[in-house]
Amino acid sequence: MIGIDLNGKTALVMGVANARSLGWAIAQKLLEAGARVGFSYQGERLKSELEKLTGGHSGTWIQQADATSEDDLSALFAKVKEEFGQLDYLVHSIGFAPREAMEGRFLDTTPQDWNTAMSVSAYTLVSIARHAEPLLREGSSIVSLTYHASQQVVPKYNVMGVAKAALEASTRYLASELGAAGVRVNCISAGPMRTIAARSIPGFGSMYDKAAAAAPLGRNATAEEVGKLALFLLSDLGSGITGEVVYVDAGAHIMTMKLD
Ligand code: NAD
Repeated sequence: MIGIDLNGKTALVMGVANARSLGWAIAQKLLEAGARVGFSYQGERLKSELEKLTGGHSGTWIQQADATSEDDLSALFAKVKEEFGQLDYLVHSIGFAPREAMEGRFLDTTPQDWNTAMSVSAYTLVSIARHAEPLLREGSSIVSLTYHASQQVVPKYNVMGVAKAALEASTRYLASELGAAGVRVNCISAGPMRTIAARSIPGFGSMYDKAAAAAPLGRNATAEEVGKLALFLLSDLGSGITGEVVYVDAGAHIMTMKLD
């Protein structure tokens, strides 16, 4: 039990597809701490799964919103205003790149795949923050999820690594602009986790095992550990931290190699 009380706080979590989603691990920590949580899901096929997950949690609500649609975002934040009046915590747990863009060479990335990956995985953080801005207040904060392929080459991550670099840079620009209002913006850089999004990365299984073997802790971080870090960064515990990329990967990114 983490001794943090978020009673009276409100949160919107965007990007829960199922129980393995990192967004769900974060939502669970927010709910445990007493926050009221609303959820958005990309499309109708994800609705029943989210209804099942949130069913047992009082005070939750869900709404469909494709994060690339300005109309969906307007409707979503109108719902946030109606339900909560204001917003303390915003979780962006959204990423996508077409599988073909991750199967071939980075050199062969098509303009369409580049635009899709950038738009869904990076620009949505900017547009979502803009829609949320009128509802945010002193002490509110935003987190999104990134991966170390933004900083170093991870085979097959390709355009998604570039999109994550854009997401991290966007985090710094947003933090700089929203700081005057007392609003913080940070990224969590998670190690590999077995989720739906991870399944679309070619060779993910082998990458998962190699990361665990290379990590100082000799294992991969868990989704629950992502949730704990998010709780820290979103809440007042992280009050002095903004524009930052904080790793939760059992230390894997500090290593260049490990000797047998
Ligand atoms: P996931 O598949 O459970 O979640 C990804 C979510 O993005 C899904 O809910 C999907 O519906 C949503 N999404 C995609 N396009 C969307 C759109 N246009 N509008 C609204 N929602 C959209 O997988 P996850 O691993 O939990 O991914 C969450 C975040 O964590 C992603 O940004 C991912 O890149 C990042 N991340 C994942 C790992 C990992 O190994 N799983 C590691 C580091 C970072």
